Amino acid sequence: MSSQPSSAAERREALKQVLAQARACARCSELAATRKTVVFGAGNADADLMFVGEAPGASEDEQGLPFVGRAGKLLDRLLGEIALERANVWICNVLKCRPPGNRDPLPVEIENCREYLLRQVQLIEPVVICTLGNFSTKLLRDDPTGITRLHGQPQEIVIGARAVRLYPIYHPAAALYTPRMLETLREDFSKIPQLLALGPPPQPPAPALGPPASEPPDLSAIHELDAAAPSPAASPAASPSVAPERAARSEPADDRAARAEADQLGLF
Ligand code: URA
Repeated sequence: MSSQPSSAAERREALKQVLAQARACARCSELAATRKTVVFGAGNADADLMFVGEAPGASEDEQGLPFVGRAGKLLDRLLGEIALERANVWICNVLKCRPPGNRDPLPVEIENCREYLLRQVQLIEPVVICTLGNFSTKLLRDDPTGITRLHGQPQEIVIGARAVRLYPIYHPAAALYTPRMLETLREDFSKIPQLLALGPPPQPPAPALGPPASEPPDLSAIHELDAAAPSPAASPAASPSVAPERAARSEPADDRAARAEADQLGLF
């Protein structure tokens, strides 16, 4: 592939190829040997809003879908509070396979799996990426600063060739048993609609030629565009689910056939 697929249908098709690669992946021998399913991601493959968690747990591994356990139920509730649902967003993780015993992802596993996440960002073209907790925040910022310092502060970064609004928030699992953290998470969540309403940040100039298909996106290309992020509170009020770019990305009727197959894969 020498260039970015442009239509939603083409990007979804390319995403299905990445899904097929991930399903066959054995880069992490322990995870490949112990997983029941590869939890690639699910939701709207043309979404403006993407959530990136840590790694599948037992329920996710069983069902092949991200965030279907207790943390997922909380995520659903928080989405509902800002008038969104799973069908409006894309949800995935840093790791696509469950670490045995729910241990933390190992650095080598994060490295092995990052290509899949970067391809998802490249193909879904989100406006806002909410990183849930430390692992995804550190990976996508390419920096060890933790979530306690960063939560609730949007910033513009470039991931691969795509400029996005990165919005680190606490992981819902961390808020399950800590009411104060849940309040903070809820407060941070409430700013997502305003952030979406800002639309995508200015995009970097397109390269003359895309990278060869065999070459994974280079994480070193991730860098901060603007440390001083725009304040969502300063943005005009807007409907939570209708970012400016979204209307232009609604699905043509012709795409329905491709969509039917994609639905089988947890894509909408
Ligand atoms: N926690 C995560 O980080 N991801 C899931 O999919 C479920 C729980």
